[in-house]
Amino acid sequence: MKNIKFLVIALLFCTATWSQEKNKTKAEIDAKVSELLSKMTLEEKVGQMTQITVTIFEDTKKPGYFDAAKLKQGIQDYHIGSILNVPNPGAPTLQRWQETMTAITNEANKTRLKIPVLYGIDAIHGASYTAGATLFPQQIGLAATFNTDLVKRGAEISAYETRASSIPWVFSPDLDFPRNPAWSRMWESFGEDAYLSSKMAVALVDGFEGSNVGSKYSVASCMKHYIGYGSTTTGKDRTPSIIPERILRQYDLTIYQAAIKAGAKSVMVSSGEINGTPVHASKHLITDILKKELGFEGVVVTDWKDIIYLHTRHKVAETKRDAVRIAVLAGIDMSMVPEEFSFYTDLVDLVKKGEVPMSRIDDAVSRILRMKFELNLFQNTVANLKDYPKFGSAEHIEEAYKTAAESITLLKNNQSVLPLNKADKILVTGATANSMNYLNGGWSYTWQGENSDTYAADKFTILEAFQNKLGKENVLYTAGADLEEENDAEIEKAVALAKSATKIVLCLGEKNYTETPGDISTIFMSKSQIKLALALAKVDKPIILILNEGRPRLISDFEDKMSAIVQCYLPGNEGARALVDILYGDVNPSGRLPYNYPRFPNSLEKYNRKYTESISEGEQNNDATYEKSYLPQFEFGTGLSYTTFNYSNLKIDKAEITNSEDVNVSVDVTNAGKRAGKEAVLLYLSDNYASITPEFKSLKRFEKISLAPGETKTVKFTLNQKDLQFVNEDLKWISEKGTFTIQIANQKKDFLLK
Ligand code: BGC
Repeated sequence: MKNIKFLVIALLFCTATWSQEKNKTKAEIDAKVSELLSKMTLEEKVGQMTQITVTIFEDTKKPGYFDAAKLKQGIQDYHIGSILNVPNPGAPTLQRWQETMTAITNEANKTRLKIPVLYGIDAIHGASYTAGATLFPQQIGLAATFNTDLVKRGAEISAYETRASSIPWVFSPDLDFPRNPAWSRMWESFGEDAYLSSKMAVALVDGFEGSNVGSKYSVASCMKHYIGYGSTTTGKDRTPSIIPERILRQYDLTIYQAAIKAGAKSVMVSSGEINGTPVHASKHLITDILKKELGFEGVVVTDWKDIIYLHTRHKVAETKRDAVRIAVLAGIDMSMVPEEFSFYTDLVDLVKKGEVPMSRIDDAVSRILRMKFELNLFQNTVANLKDYPKFGSAEHIEEAYKTAAESITLLKNNQSVLPLNKADKILVTGATANSMNYLNGGWSYTWQGENSDTYAADKFTILEAFQNKLGKENVLYTAGADLEEENDAEIEKAVALAKSATKIVLCLGEKNYTETPGDISTIFMSKSQIKLALALAKVDKPIILILNEGRPRLISDFEDKMSAIVQCYLPGNEGARALVDILYGDVNPSGRLPYNYPRFPNSLEKYNRKYTESISEGEQNNDATYEKSYLPQFEFGTGLSYTTFNYSNLKIDKAEITNSEDVNVSVDVTNAGKRAGKEAVLLYLSDNYASITPEFKSLKRFEKISLAPGETKTVKFTLNQKDLQFVNEDLKWISEKGTFTIQIANQKKDFLLK
């Protein structure tokens, strides 16, 4: 007991000293920022707010290398504060990044105030723009792990390898909240649940920034794309969203709130428009809500060319110059211009003519300088490669493998057709069976990820992972189909081979893509692939369908003919190894689907639907038949295992609470099968009656546990008052008296809020 007391006192002391230390550092940095700001000319200040893409400074005859005069012009004449993106032709080595950053730093050191240039990059699943880096599953897969510790560890590795590339700032995490599953960036998000997204967002921010963002192993994170970007009505990229503020506050904003609380240093604004206002033009969203209400003190950067687009696309500004005025007054701190210097020239002019006050510029520049000080860039911008012996190491690769293994989700397993037996004669076929491009997806080595096959040539495709496990001669293979083009001869080949196999592993999915190039007009799986699936189904051998896709492409045309279905999302460089280990039972699957997988294109309900979205059988009447509206192919949270987990003994400590009390919940989970396994335990809450129509249920807590065969663990959760609240018509978070139902697997318990 004495020891515990001592420990508690010591802990309190450490926490107090640590927060004093933090405040002291903050005060010191603020003082440095003010001092530097006081020395700066208007031009130097506006330069800091200007971000240019690196390829603009390249020598046209020597892609990937600087034209010294162009770099000098950017840094010395325009005083630019930030550079982004990857040099041509994509993914430099660590050495090339070091040379690139050295050239930039040398140029910055020739300026009057020697302010370092802040380099930002789309390292969104590992240092994905550096050759030889460890590539993790894309974010949708991270969400499917339901394991925040694993996700945080991955972000630490990603930070380490990004800093090894001399880059201190990543454009991640993606906090988008897709409402239409066809959206081309669905896979960059954490799926359809705001609570899961918040928890994962915090894990990424913590992992990226660590306890000291200035350390040589940490990077600043950038939440994106604030706000409502992923919610386009059409499902097409950069088209309008209609989101009432009540909804924005109840869901989307909570994810940002959590990441801001975790310390996220910057935010990128959405290229979209909400209710007719482009977010880049919204003072309400950027200044009033983000900066004032949420108290966000970091840097607000635009997305690609988005100030210019206020004029050319959104048509809310008659000129480019007016677009700059609108965006800066809305609260933008840095413009990703990014291909010319009009932002700089226009903003200098706007301030000189009194159309933008100097106070706004000072606010923006202070935020940028603060981030540069926090990142320690005034001390160092170029990595010493000796400090990074673990870059691309076996240890890091093992973490990426583990993350992929915990993300892969078993959706269906009729008659326990999985795990496979090594004695099975396997036909591997399908358009995604033999390419790294599809396993990694976009933002891998290049923007659209079309060169993963070259950069990751030493990694296994799905076919190669099979061959590695079974020996090349023991695996039958033919592509069977192209992603888009129909090819009957290939289908015939696959069907012929299928006849000599005992089981078929059919790999379907999508090409690599991101943003507008990934837009689709039908969410069904492509025709060429459906045709292959239907032809193979006629052979009458068990088919194991492997989905390798960024968004749920509808499979309802042939799903009933598949014996097993495994969703592997975009699992990254180690994904195929993890997948094949799961298929053979060397790893027990434990991923859960982070979205509802739709069955029909006109039924895109979310799991937390309203009651009116799921008219039940009981409501059918004699005059009409209702198309049952809620019938996803697979529901959010679906994820099978090779063992059986039984839930029992759901307990709550109080059947009634006041509006200041917590509810403590516990449940026993038993591994009733013969294999060890991991299980994500999900707690849902339903507010049974409320003045704003309540959700059917909503995820409030989760925890991933490991259980040996026969083992039972008691999992405990605490629900607090915030968990019982929703946003009312006056945009206030409130709770209302009445009963609530807690649900964990098949267990349910009610309590009353008095
Ligand atoms: C994307 C952002 C990305 C930025 C920089 C934009 O087109 O929307 O997500 O961070 O480019 O590459």
